[in-house]
Amino acid sequence: MRKDDCIFCKIAAGEIPSTTIYEDDLHRVFFDIAPGSEGHCLIVPKNHYDDIFDMDEKAGADLFALATKVAKALKEVTGCEGMNIVQNNGSIAGQTVFHFHMHLIPRYTGDTVNVGWVPGEADMDKLSEMADKVRKAM
Ligand code: AMP
Ligand code: ZN
Repeated sequence: MRKDDCIFCKIAAGEIPSTTIYEDDLHRVFFDIAPGSEGHCLIVPKNHYDDIFDMDEKAGADLFALATKVAKALKEVTGCEGMNIVQNNGSIAGQTVFHFHMHLIPRYTGDTVNVGWVPGEADMDKLSEMADKVRKAM
């Protein structure tokens, strides 16, 4: 499964160069070309999925299993103090490349990475109602 004119399909297939850290039958892991911090890399499935809503659970499970391995190796090599895992779905959420990918962003004291939101106030009744609805939709 690949999509014409998708840059990450081309990178995953090795048709466009990337600084590849790791590759297997299902994934390619490479450094982000515009890193937020030292070691910022992307995990990309070789199959094309636009986003998480387009992806099957097995592909997600395989990818996250690999992410746990890469995260530990990246921490060991960079000496980072922590790491954000960011995965944007839809332009509203900041997605700019519409082929599913997961960002691993090592964190260092004094870095300029900004992953955040303004904390709101929870309405417990609404949360319970939504929890029921989501559970039923699963
Ligand atoms: P997102 O905003 O979550 O869709 O992230 C897309 C990411 O892909 C950005 O961080 C870009 O810097 C990165 N990116 C785009 N083109 C390339 C490329 N050719 N090689 C490596 N990273 C890329
Ligand atoms: Zn693609």
